[in-house]
Amino acid sequence: MQLYKNQTLSVHNSLSGKKEVFEPINEGHVGMYVCGPTVYSNVHLGNCRTFMSFDMIFRYFRHLGYKVRYVRNITDAGHLEDDADDGEDKIAKKAKLEQIEPMEVVQRYTVDFHNTLQKFNLLPPSIEPTATGHIIEQIEIIKEIIDKGYAYEVNGSVYFDVLKFNETHDYGKLSGRKLEDMIANTRELTAQDEKRNPQDFALWKKAEPQHIMRWPSPWGDGFPGWHLECTAMSTKYLGDHFDIHGGGMDLKFPHHECEIAQAEASSGQTPVKYWLHANMLTLNGKKMSKSTGNNIYPSEIISGENDILSKAYTPAVVRFFMMQAHYTSILDLSDEALQASEKGYHRLMDAMDCLETLGTGNNSDFDVKTWKQQCYDAMNDDFNTPILIANLFEAVKHINLTKEGKEQITEGDKALLQSTMHSFVYDVLGIEGKKNGNDNSNLLDGVMDLLIGLRNEARANKDFATSDKIRDELTALGIQLKDGKDGTTFSTN
Ligand code: AMP
Ligand code: ZN
Repeated sequence: MQLYKNQTLSVHNSLSGKKEVFEPINEGHVGMYVCGPTVYSNVHLGNCRTFMSFDMIFRYFRHLGYKVRYVRNITDAGHLEDDADDGEDKIAKKAKLEQIEPMEVVQRYTVDFHNTLQKFNLLPPSIEPTATGHIIEQIEIIKEIIDKGYAYEVNGSVYFDVLKFNETHDYGKLSGRKLEDMIANTRELTAQDEKRNPQDFALWKKAEPQHIMRWPSPWGDGFPGWHLECTAMSTKYLGDHFDIHGGGMDLKFPHHECEIAQAEASSGQTPVKYWLHANMLTLNGKKMSKSTGNNIYPSEIISGENDILSKAYTPAVVRFFMMQAHYTSILDLSDEALQASEKGYHRLMDAMDCLETLGTGNNSDFDVKTWKQQCYDAMNDDFNTPILIANLFEAVKHINLTKEGKEQITEGDKALLQSTMHSFVYDVLGIEGKKNGNDNSNLLDGVMDLLIGLRNEARANKDFATSDKIRDELTALGIQLKDGKDGTTFSTN
């Protein structure tokens, strides 16, 4: 169904700093590119928030009936420790540290990334390209930029000439920075610097002999600059001018600013119609940081094994918590906030269950049609999920009143309410119900009761071969049995 024909969606475009009506470049189609992870470590919950925000946006476009091509890359080369083109490649550094191949690092953390996002019920993108799979495309773009006069080669490296570009274009238009201010605020170049100006950035870096991640190029062996991969992969799959580019706020500068410069310099076209930026997740009011320990991984939140929170939370509750904030607002994670979300999640899910068997009457006390449009209005206002959730709770209130016999609902309105609740809760917000895969704790308890019972029976019959087999095979699965004076309990790894 082409719902988009009856809905007017506005999005906050970081390029204009305003909300704009979304009009796709090709009617009925949406092309969206989101910067993916650099796969050198486990994905943290902050990363997950950004990807979850764009998953919700992807889901809403699909719900509206658009054909969406969603491209989210994997950065598996070229991302140096320092944004100013210095330091080691993050992946090569990790490989050296662990004495494994860089591609083993990439594989390990790509698998972790996929597993984690699956737990939070994110849909896979349409295409998930890698930087190392697009070296040829990146080299071609560099050649074009050099041909157009916006890049120069020095000693096997190629740099983008920001000052030259700014003579005819506007470097800084996305981040709202002025080149003069940037120049005033940067240090002078030293004699060993290869760049003409400190603002210039690397398109290609010469690989020193010890650098393991290297590819041949017209300028000698080297590796691409980080910003370039996103220009190569977004334009390859979505064209020189596409609808949406997303990422976390922290990528606006220099990463996205440089992407615009590269694309404009090579193709002559402005690459992106709408730039969307998701805001950061903080922890107990402070920036998440691995070095200070103010950091939490998804697996720690799900297992409850951490020193920050009082208990474990299911991925569905965490996702619901994330959706309760607007994607452009900072969201602070704390035990209190998660507990409140857990309560809200259960209230919502109980109402969803109750709706299935709700009795109907001759009249409706709840104007379901108007309410349904209010749900769309919330999402049409730059994907305002907190307002959408407030509307869902308005429906919960009426469901509960109807259950208590204080209100009525007609059969037709009940069906409309059910289908709308399903669409927004499950399809658009991507919240999984209690019975779905992610909340298996009750199921596991039940299965373990059964196995412990069978083992006790075997022991009572002196069938120690069977009782030992049950214990050993559970241990192999990562489940430990502990026999105490009050019976047998279990724990998982
Ligand atoms: P990275 O792997 O560091 O390139 O980051 C992947 C994505 O996560 C980028 O879009 C970042 O902007 C985003 N990101 C990093 N830290 C946070 C955070 N604390 N909250 C939300 N998003 C984040
Ligand atoms: Zn990117």
